[in-house]
Amino acid sequence: MNEGNQTPLLARYQRLLELSRDLTSTLDLPTLLNHIVHAASDLCQAEASSILLFDEGNQELYFEAASNLESPEMKGLIVPVDSSIAGWIFTEQKSAIINDVSEDPRHFNQIGTATDIQTLSLLGVPLITKDKVVGVLEAINKLTGQFTEEDQELLMALGAHAAIAIENGRLFQQSDLISDFVHELRTPLTSINAAAHLLARPELSTEQTHTILQTMQREINRLSDMTSTFLDLARLESGRAHIVVKPINMIQLLEECTEVIQGEISEKQQILKLDLNKEIPHIYADQDKLKQVILNLLTNAVKYTPSGGKITLSLSTTPSEVLIMVRDSGIGIPPDSLTHIFDKFYRVPGSDLVSKGTGLGLSISQRIVEAHQGRIEVESQVGVGSSFSVYLPLMNKSTQ
Ligand code: ADP
Repeated sequence: MNEGNQTPLLARYQRLLELSRDLTSTLDLPTLLNHIVHAASDLCQAEASSILLFDEGNQELYFEAASNLESPEMKGLIVPVDSSIAGWIFTEQKSAIINDVSEDPRHFNQIGTATDIQTLSLLGVPLITKDKVVGVLEAINKLTGQFTEEDQELLMALGAHAAIAIENGRLFQQSDLISDFVHELRTPLTSINAAAHLLARPELSTEQTHTILQTMQREINRLSDMTSTFLDLARLESGRAHIVVKPINMIQLLEECTEVIQGEISEKQQILKLDLNKEIPHIYADQDKLKQVILNLLTNAVKYTPSGGKITLSLSTTPSEVLIMVRDSGIGIPPDSLTHIFDKFYRVPGSDLVSKGTGLGLSISQRIVEAHQGRIEVESQVGVGSSFSVYLPLMNKSTQ
């Protein structure tokens, strides 16, 4: 059964494991599909490989990736489900070895005209996830001899991994938030990884070891912060975060916030000034969420203001709104960054040198404020300071 394969079965299975592992290294769909087709050619010792995906909307199979995609006209080429080998594999959910394609009546010969490769022999397997077929993986033209059952088994095993990876890639593609998050995770993970490698070096002094461990701890804390903040954001985005409104005593809430932040203020020898208009009526809001917003703004003010700087927290009213303002005498925000600071994961370039952060705080704050039918605004001048204003409607009981 080993005809045409110089490599022993065990070595081929080892290769399969390596290739399958590679598939988990990316969630980017085009990169992933490219990995899969190259893995399939490598594993089956074939001249080329391709992936056809099923478009549920149009009920069509089309070429999505091929290891020899120099010919761009092949990408997107539609293959009829009812009159092609790929269509048969897809519909029957069975693999097929065809060692002389020209003799097979199911062969869809238009493909030959779209690529430089003339298909002589073909091995195809369905790409099946738990409950559905997502497409077909084909290896084309065995380099020596004919496709064997062993090739078929290996390609089916690769196809099973590939199908799951494709499903995951598609899911991640659909969710900007998750893919952004995964992308952001890479930075601290890379730092931790590099630090872990460094730690393994025998020539390190105790002091160096200590510094590396501190870096690791800091990055791990950042990962952990990011994870919980991200979950908050995901809940807000999906509408699963329930905003529970109750009448709130704003003065009391702001005083609680200043107590929480006092330690950080003292540490940086900053001055916190309170400017609270005692005549503020109760407003209807979600106490915990509003507290999160104010603490975010105060924490940022502390973080991005040098030692000895001044922070002011004020509360006032307009005829229809309550205005909470956090002002600082900090580093300020450049004009071209001002339009981005509420974007997820956005940090002003160079912020990392001033203070670590996730770039999620303001984005969450904005969502919370908007869920209260309020708005959040910023004014800032580099080197002078920033001012964040939160406007909340007075007497608003109808918050979602
Ligand atoms: P994080 O502080 O975790 O990076 P945020 O979403 O709270 O994330 O803030 C986004 C970015 O906006 C920060 O990285 C920082 O560059 C900038 N920023 C926020 N608040 C201030 C402030 N008070 N002064 C200067 N820059 C600020």
